[in-house]
Amino acid sequence: MLEPLDKEFLFDAQALRYAVELMGQQFAPDSRVVVPPKLPEDGVGSLKTLERLAPSVLGGAMHLGDAKAFAHKDPPTPWVTWATTLWNASLNQNLLHPETAPVARQMEETVLDWLCPYFGMQGGHMTPGSSAANLTACWAARECADVKEIVASEAAHLSIKKAAHILGLAFRAVRVDSTGALCPQDLPKDLSRSALVLTSGTTSVGALDSLGLAGRAAWTHVDAAWGGPLRLTCYANRLSGIEHADSVAVSSHKWLFQPKESALIMFRNVAKAHEAISFGGSYLSEPNIGLLGSHGATAIPLLAMLWSWGRAGLAKRIEHCVQMADTLAQHLSKDFRAELLGQPQTAIVVWRPRQVHLVEQIIKQLPVGIASTVTINNEKWIRHTAANPNADIAQIIDEINLILDRT
Ligand SMILES: *Cc1c(COP(=O)(O)O)cnc(C)c1O
Repeated sequence: MLEPLDKEFLFDAQALRYAVELMGQQFAPDSRVVVPPKLPEDGVGSLKTLERLAPSVLGGAMHLGDAKAFAHKDPPTPWVTWATTLWNASLNQNLLHPETAPVARQMEETVLDWLCPYFGMQGGHMTPGSSAANLTACWAARECADVKEIVASEAAHLSIKKAAHILGLAFRAVRVDSTGALCPQDLPKDLSRSALVLTSGTTSVGALDSLGLAGRAAWTHVDAAWGGPLRLTCYANRLSGIEHADSVAVSSHKWLFQPKESALIMFRNVAKAHEAISFGGSYLSEPNIGLLGSHGATAIPLLAMLWSWGRAGLAKRIEHCVQMADTLAQHLSKDFRAELLGQPQTAIVVWRPRQVHLVEQIIKQLPVGIASTVTINNEKWIRHTAANPNADIAQIIDEINLILDRT
């Protein structure tokens, strides 16, 4: 029988303090627990569950803020986002209805008001990632500009091809040059029925497609999932021309240091775009915009971080990442044993040993979390991504040197 008031749903400062304290503990690698393979009939209780889960969930995770974490586009997240995410979980607002999220809806609008001007966009909304943001943009393109195909470089993110597939649009891939950017001379001459997707920071090598091409097609979407936040930094002009796009996607769970899932889709003409992708319904007091039905308050941790750091504080951290990538690239370009693919354009460093047959061996020896790999023209390269402001670039260079010395 349930108690008259079920305490599981009530605020319990002591229990929450325990949960937070677990976050600061070190767990031995062998302390992981076995989770029951079948749904248990009787529960063990919440405190016991936390105690059991912590060694695996907290101890077994990859630590994205470690000195040597330099592999992927997944950043560490600032603690103010942990706190506000906890608030979000406790309140469980649903942005689908104004009455279930009176404040949270306003916060999302505010975050978009703060960020859109850096991209020359008017407004937009949040999605659980740029895969969903890209799909939303291509959907708006189909509705607003009557496009029949999506044109993008062969290095475009797979979500673009997915969007074409879902929307029943043709997909045309355009060759890339040696830097990984779309070759403008290979674009179809007639783009009057096409959505052109330009990538600002390709997934594999961080290349920047020429944004001078924005406006050439019936609709231009810029996939700035990774590179977009550079617009708020001293490197903003690397993405100049983005303001001529019709839509822009940015993953805030990448270089805006947000917990997943968090991203922005922004439109130059937001009223028209939102209208085109809205549906009404009997139980809705306002039309439902975009792909999502129920939708959480992911804007609140983003707003909290932006308010806490300001633009300058955010820029300082991203700029530091760019400078670490540049330092590593400069170091590798001077090492006769290494071949750099090119100068990093969005803090992604791609290189391989000159003795190409050693690449697998080197990858295996590099500490976990320091590097990822990427295949270009059927050849493997080593890749580093500067998403972690707390990385120690001197230590990372030492590790790479050590392995190059040994092989
Ligand atoms: C990460 C990424 C995506 C996909 O974004 P998610 O937020 O992972 O869904 C799309 N395009 C580019 C260029 C990316 O780097």
